[in-house]
Parts: sequence; C-alpha cells; structure tokens
Amino acid sequence: MATSKNADGTLAWLRDRNRDRVVEMLRMQGQISQAEIARATGLSRTTVSTLIAELKEAGLVADIDTKSLHARGGRPGVQLVLRHPSQVVAGIDFGHSHVAIAVADLGHNVLAERWHDLDVNREAARALDVAAGMFAEILEEVAVERTSVLGVGMGIPGPVDRAHGTAGSATILPGWIGLSIAAEMEQRLGIPVRIENDANLGALAELTWGAGRDCSNFAYIKAATGIGAGIVIDGRLLRGATGTAGEIGHTTLDEAGPLCYCGNRGCLETVASGPAIVQLVGRVNGESLALSQIIELASEGDLRCRRAVADAGREIGVAVAGLCNLINPERVIVGGLMSRAGEVLLGPLRESIRRHAVQAAAETVDVRAAVFVERAELLGSVALALIGSPEAEIAHRIESLR
Ligand SMILES: [Zn+2]
Repeated sequence: MATSKNADGTLAWLRDRNRDRVVEMLRMQGQISQAEIARATGLSRTTVSTLIAELKEAGLVADIDTKSLHARGGRPGVQLVLRHPSQVVAGIDFGHSHVAIAVADLGHNVLAERWHDLDVNREAARALDVAAGMFAEILEEVAVERTSVLGVGMGIPGPVDRAHGTAGSATILPGWIGLSIAAEMEQRLGIPVRIENDANLGALAELTWGAGRDCSNFAYIKAATGIGAGIVIDGRLLRGATGTAGEIGHTTLDEAGPLCYCGNRGCLETVASGPAIVQLVGRVNGESLALSQIIELASEGDLRCRRAVADAGREIGVAVAGLCNLINPERVIVGGLMSRAGEVLLGPLRESIRRHAVQAAAETVDVRAAVFVERAELLGSVALALIGSPEAEIAHRIESLR
C-alpha cells in the first residue's frame, strides 16, 4: 500500500535524521553521556539508547572510562566517544612571535603539542614552511598517517578575510598580504585547512571547553605580544563585515600618542602590548628581559615588573570598558601570556572597567582569567578543525548503515 510505504519511508528518514543528530552531538562534545545526548537533542532516552546501540554495533561509538581522562572534571558516569582511533585533526596557531601545533583525536583529547619561537609577522612563507615541517614531525610523534588527518584549523594574529582565505589588514600582518593563506597551507599539507583570527580561536576554545562553557555572551581578550578580542554573542563568534571585529588593540587611547604599526597614533598596543611592556621595563642588570620573564617577575612581586603589567592592565581596561558599553557582556575572559600575571593584570583591568564603563554594564560583568592561558588560541584551532572537519569516513559509514 502506498500509504504504508510512505510511512516506512518517513520513519526511516526520521531514524537517519536522529542518528545524524546523535553523531553530531558526539562530534561537538567529544565525550558525552547518553543522558546528556537525550537532554541536548530532546530525543527520548529510549530512542537515544537504541541509536547508540546501533552505532556501537557498527563500531562507530565506544564507552570510555572517564576516570582515566584528565580533561573534563566533574562529569561522572560512562561517557561515549566517536570511535576512530586512527583519525585525528590538527590545529596550528600563529602568534606574532610563535607558531604552535597540536594533534587531537575525535574524543577531543590532545595527543601531542609543539611550540616554536618565530618572527611570524614579516616572513609569511617561512612561517608556513616551519609549520608544515612541525606538522610532519608531530604526525611522526603520534604515529599517524597524513591521510588520517580529517582537517586542520589555523589561527593567524590579525584580521582574516574568510571569503578569500587571506589576511584582512595590510598593516597588521604586512608579510601576509596578498597570500592565499588557507590555500598555501593546504598545498603544503595536502589536507583541507580552515583559517580564523587567533583571538576568535581563543574565544572558541574557552567557549567549547573553558571559562565560557556556561556563558553565551562574553568577550575573550588575548593579551600577549598583540592585544585582540574574540567576541561571542548569543553563543556565536562575531566577525563583522570584513573580519576585523575585536581589533581592540588598535583602539585609540591618545590621539597624540606614539605612532602605531597599524598607521594610527596612540593605539592600546602602543602602551600595553608585550613589546610596549618590554620597552617600558627596559634593561635589568644590563639585560633586556623577555615578556615571559617580566610576567614571571611580576607574579613573584618584583616592583618594576609589577607596575608595568598593572599599568598595561589599566590601559587594556579602558578599551574593554568601551567594549562593555557596546556589547554588555556577561563575562570578560582574559587569556594570552600576560594573563599568567593573574590579579596583577586583572585587578587594575577590572578597576578600569568600573571607572570607565556605564555603571550597569560594569557592575554585572565578571572579569576572570582564561582556563587555557597562552594555549587558548592553539586549542581553538583544534576546535575549529573538530567542529568543522568533514568527517568523510563517518558520513560514509553512517551511509552504509542505512
Ligand atoms: Zn594601532
């Protein structure tokens, strides 16, 4: 009968659709319990249980013992993961002065991670070559074939024109202009690459696993060599018309201030960026200190370093106060190397927001340190690869279940 055939077709379609939703949930969350899947998808526990049994039968899903995992505290009970021991994603993070790379499995566990100091700004091609070399090394370290890498997420420390896969500003990353960054990297790796601004990736990592997990309106501030913001509104990244949303480092604080590399005067970065702090502290015992040393000394109570970091916090707070007036975030999450200084940076930053933002916005905003500190951008590039990876094999194996 035509009607029953139709009904069968509808049922099969519905079952496939529900199975896709369960797989999607596993892919987004990495590790999740059956009850959590039911809650998040709105499917009944019986339906979820049947679908999970089918997926386990097909070898696509496995139980894991959460006690053996370090990453996700406070989640008791049996967790489920997509089972692809051989398949991974990679994240590459370019800062202004480093490149880092990580490989993670589909259960959202980082398998290996590597860092390398590099002047990224001026020599784009060399930076891409170095990253490609590190990629080959790290795959060897985790004993994974290149063909098992489903996708690569990549962050660059400047605005990203996502439509063209290029750098969105001629002055912020001068060496990268005109380069089809995603395509260049794809050519070197032979794997699909997605690119994103690094502060946006920091926000994505904190949203996925860190200090923004339970929050849908927040600003993530990356305070390191450069200063940038990743803005999350209603659980989504705000990119703006041309990808420059969140360039808070180039907020004008003093119109007659020193010339900034972006071409304007008196930007936040001229007084509060890593290089500005290094210059302010100057030489100690005849030696010029690196930003990481200054942050360490500030945490240990060295007065000069403490003052330099605190002043930077105060200046960053002025720009963040403006941001609070505009977007009224629930939380401001501060990451990047400078956030290692903790309250030395955050105290004055908070005080500055209180002084300069509209009272209602300043009173409610919760300013706290990022969970991932200087790893946030790297983990965000992993999240970009995980959440955006094509999952060709999973799609294929689900297809064969039908
Ligand atoms: Zn500037």
